[in-house]
Amino acid sequence: MTSSNGSRSTLVPATPRQSAVAAATAWNSKDSHGFEGASGGAAARLESAYGADVFSERVMRQRLPKDIFKRMMRTTQLGEALDPEMADIVAAAMKDWAIENGATHYTHWFQPLTGLTAEKHDALSIPDGHGGVLAAFSGSDLVQGETDGSSFPSGGLRATFEARGYTAWDATSPAFLARGEGGVVTLCIPTAFVSWNGEALDKKTPLLRSIDAVAGQALRILKIFGTDVGVSRVITTLGPEQEYFLVDRNLFYARPDLVTCDRTLFGARPPKGQQLEDHYFGSIPARVLAYMAEVERELYRVGVPVKTRHNEVAPGQYEVAPIFENANVACDHQMVLMETLKKVAPRYGLQCILHEKPFAGVNGSGKHNNWSMSTNTGMNLLDPQEQTHTNMQFLTFLCAVIRAVDLHADLLRASIAGASNDHRLGANEAPPAIISIFLGDMLTDIIEQLESGTPKRTLKGGAMDLGARTLPQLPRHSGDRNRTSPFAFTGNKFEFRAVGSSQTSAWPNTVLNTIVAESLDDIATELEKAVGANPSEAKLASAVRAMLQRIIKDHKRVIFNGDGYTQEWHAEAARRGLPNFKDTVEALPALKSKKAVELFKKYKVFTKPELESRFHIFVEKFVKQVSIEAETMVSMARTMILPAALEHQVRLAEAVSTTLAADVECDELRTDLEAFVKLVMRLRSATAKLEAAADHHDADPFAHAKHIKAVVRPAMTELRAAADELESIIAADLWPMPTYRDLLFIK
Ligand code: ADP
Ligand code: MG
Repeated sequence: MTSSNGSRSTLVPATPRQSAVAAATAWNSKDSHGFEGASGGAAARLESAYGADVFSERVMRQRLPKDIFKRMMRTTQLGEALDPEMADIVAAAMKDWAIENGATHYTHWFQPLTGLTAEKHDALSIPDGHGGVLAAFSGSDLVQGETDGSSFPSGGLRATFEARGYTAWDATSPAFLARGEGGVVTLCIPTAFVSWNGEALDKKTPLLRSIDAVAGQALRILKIFGTDVGVSRVITTLGPEQEYFLVDRNLFYARPDLVTCDRTLFGARPPKGQQLEDHYFGSIPARVLAYMAEVERELYRVGVPVKTRHNEVAPGQYEVAPIFENANVACDHQMVLMETLKKVAPRYGLQCILHEKPFAGVNGSGKHNNWSMSTNTGMNLLDPQEQTHTNMQFLTFLCAVIRAVDLHADLLRASIAGASNDHRLGANEAPPAIISIFLGDMLTDIIEQLESGTPKRTLKGGAMDLGARTLPQLPRHSGDRNRTSPFAFTGNKFEFRAVGSSQTSAWPNTVLNTIVAESLDDIATELEKAVGANPSEAKLASAVRAMLQRIIKDHKRVIFNGDGYTQEWHAEAARRGLPNFKDTVEALPALKSKKAVELFKKYKVFTKPELESRFHIFVEKFVKQVSIEAETMVSMARTMILPAALEHQVRLAEAVSTTLAADVECDELRTDLEAFVKLVMRLRSATAKLEAAADHHDADPFAHAKHIKAVVRPAMTELRAAADELESIIAADLWPMPTYRDLLFIK
């Protein structure tokens, strides 16, 4: 047989893997649109470009009549209701600005429950039939849109006969221009998306409601401490750090699993994986750096304040982080950021992967959700300040969060559940699925002091002497970092680290805000009762102390500063009675609990049907996502891996028969062949088994989800094990797709 050496012969076509790898290695910056321009002079132009495509406060100040501008500011900054009467004037200014900047169309931009963003474009102006144009964008077009909602998931909220959905202008998140390929410019107006009777069909509406809930309750606490002077609003702040992978686009397209599922369903680990940990903060490859710079330029234009970029732990993994903003704007910006990461990558021959776990055995991607509360006057309510032990207001807000996370760990867990995050949570590198809080030494010490009396001291980190005279002394933080905690206090904010990289930020923040609002409400109610109006400082201090002591006693079980990866912690957490929902199927039912329904209803974040609809949508999404994965696996196993394996089998068999024909002993080769044939049969039967498992119908989607957990996923694991074993044996030139080594090391 001559084809056995096929790859070296020019007569035999290369396998898809070979051509993809060749193309990836041959990638040339000059072939790629945009590369050369990406970094040139960027710094110099940065200032003028920043926010250039945002209908910002600056633009509004220039273009709106003074009184209208002032009223807009009262809405955007103080959360006052929008006066619809001024919409016509704002719309006219917005339209002129957009057209002057090249826009032809506008869209109400919203976040349906698919987890993506949606838009429907309409022209800003239309021909008037007499050779001129007519403006086609009025105040009412700005404020309200109507869209056929039936193509978006509603989780049963909308009866099919009432398919209408409405979009409503969110004036607190600035409109911006989206620049597409070929010079297409579209005015994007952030909107909420609701059904005809006002039920939220999106992620923004509940987020806004939850922000209002925290704001109201936090103000009560400030009033009690007398620190509400000049404060008219409390907001939540959010700085989401986004991790992502980049792979070469040619390689990406040679992997059906990446194309359809955004993750690899097969793949033996590379010999040089992450073991060396030399990628983290390593130097960024030139192509990737050019890509990052262009992503940043695009984001700056639309006002997303990205600040940090670096390599992440895994090879091929990177991170980008913006400076924090008010949570509503930050969540919109987070959507723009994910879309921009995806959109720019092809210009550099790259594909951006946002999936939480694209590669087994390699670090997954998260979206660290840095969260705090702040007044409109800029007071960060989670800033411990110098003498933390005397800062009773800070300790009150801190304890409110501790209480909230302990009481509603199940809801927080549910807020980050999903098929893709399942592969990350609880795996070795990521935060465990058990929700606990890391406080660090300084705060833990104060909490312990507080529990047994009046706290007397604040531990200081001191200074680090670097040992060389020319280097500065660095202040040492009072607590080291703990990368294993799902919910960590990091200096002046909490970092919810279990959020998945592909998730929208709005949903976990909606849950976080609501549970904290409830704790603040509880605390405020108790304090108001205990101290009445205008209490003396001493009376207030002792009431606060008594209350915090009780909260600490009741809820300190959720605090854990140790290594969250260890088995001991799992045992200890079980002893403490902390829930451990291992996957989506275990986590989602928390949304149906009576406790959850009442909580969200009380703070007007979700009605019962709205909350139920989320449950249904998440279950459905889980079922769909894993079912597509299972089908993709079956098809790849059958049409790519099995044929390659049989080809290899023929080579082995030929080797045995030709060796025997030459009268040479080859018992070992024969044993190899036998073992190989067995492995191929294992692949065959595992493929059939998965196919049967995935062919499942259930009228009840949650029963289907349970079937997936119990039967489909284990069958996927089995098939993958056989295939990955084959990958490590089959001749490299026969393997039909790029390997982990090809994918993970970008040139
Ligand atoms: P690290 O990787 O060390 O955790 P980064 O600088 O990458 O830190 O990201 C920290 C994030 O936390 C940034 O987005 C930052 O803006 C955000 N952040 C800082 N202070 C606050 C705050 N008060 N509220 C919300 N986010 C904050
Ligand atoms: Mg970071």
